[in-house]
Amino acid sequence: MAEQHFVVIGNGPAGNEAALTLRHHAPEARVTIISREWGGCYRPHLLPQFVAGKLTEENLYVFSAASYKDNRIKLRSGQEVVTVHPDKREIILDHKEILPFDGLIIAVGGRPRIPENLMVFGDLMLTLKTVQDAKIWIRKLNETDTVLMIGGDLTSLSFTTQLMDMGKKIYFALNEEAFWPLRFDRHLYEQIAGRLSLKGVEVLKYSRIKGMNRLTNGMVEVNTDHEKVRAGVVGAFFGLTPDIAFLARSGLKIDRGILVDEYLHTGFEGIYATGDCAQIFHPDSRDYWVSIGHDNAVALGRTAALNLIGERVKAEAAMACIFDVQGVRVNSSWWMEF
Ligand SMILES: Cc1cc2nc3c(=O)[nH]c(=O)nc-3n(C[C@H](O)[C@H](O)[C@H](O)COP(=O)(O)OP(=O)(O)OC[C@H]3O[C@@H](n4cnc5c(N)ncnc54)[C@H](O)[C@@H]3O)c2cc1C
Repeated sequence: MAEQHFVVIGNGPAGNEAALTLRHHAPEARVTIISREWGGCYRPHLLPQFVAGKLTEENLYVFSAASYKDNRIKLRSGQEVVTVHPDKREIILDHKEILPFDGLIIAVGGRPRIPENLMVFGDLMLTLKTVQDAKIWIRKLNETDTVLMIGGDLTSLSFTTQLMDMGKKIYFALNEEAFWPLRFDRHLYEQIAGRLSLKGVEVLKYSRIKGMNRLTNGMVEVNTDHEKVRAGVVGAFFGLTPDIAFLARSGLKIDRGILVDEYLHTGFEGIYATGDCAQIFHPDSRDYWVSIGHDNAVALGRTAALNLIGERVKAEAAMACIFDVQGVRVNSSWWMEF
């Protein structure tokens, strides 16, 4: 029988774990990871500490580039998948190469979500998702002592703590959209605003950003419906949204994420989706759920790989995964509330 070729798209925690599991359980198969970003797999949740100078870049990585060779995994980093043809069993890369597969795991994760009304200010705001983003933050923070955080997702709160440790002056603009995808809740809002204030963060209550202008190279002015704030860096933190626009015409079923059954199967033979980009059917609730979080992603990556090689492992609805948001306990099942 010809050697099987398993392809994993994405080298985040889910994709990397999927590839390792395939390697371990299917020693004869060829395993390829395609990753848009350069280099090996890193832990995105450590980026705030990296920006704060508490970790080196090396500390972020789970796997060095050499380890892929040792594990007989072909890592094609710096390459982007632009289309998947499930029927033809091939993917197309951005440089037009066609790559055939026998089995495919899609683990493309999420990208920072920017609310539509703020998109026009996109080039004035920074997000934090990749090592590259972190390096831009480091460069900008070297030049300024004031930061305006807009949003309020889980990342922004842990990042604020790191920025405070760096001695930065922080303004935090909270509004009703801030906790997306958490449903707005006055009690949670007051709690988080209160805790931020206690830490010395200046909390701005507003309902709308009316304008944003670059005054000089190192200063941005932001107008809300209540006040005007000037900061050296403006960060946008509105959660992550599955990064799946490139699959729009693939024939895969897509809603907010890639729709899969409880085995992470897309409905196309040998094609699975996993990690933050998957929207997973839950037979008990008869609804779909989306996971977020490092540990969930690793577990889901393993599950997809085991199912691709013929096992029948259900994705655990890891609803019990609790985040601690500045002392407030938040259950990750909030992703149910799209
Ligand atoms: C700053 C930050 C802080 C966080 N803090 C925490 C925390 O404290 N606790 C926690 O549990 N979780 C945290 N998270 C969330 C956690 O990191 C994610 O849930 C997890 O990384 C999801 O893993 P994933 O593999 O599904 O996706 P991702 O990590 O998003 O990886 C997706 C991969 O796919 C690649 N890719 C995307 N599109 C393509 C394409 N078309 N072609 C090729 N490659 C592609 C990307 O380059 C990336 O390598 C944080 C995330 C961030 C960004």
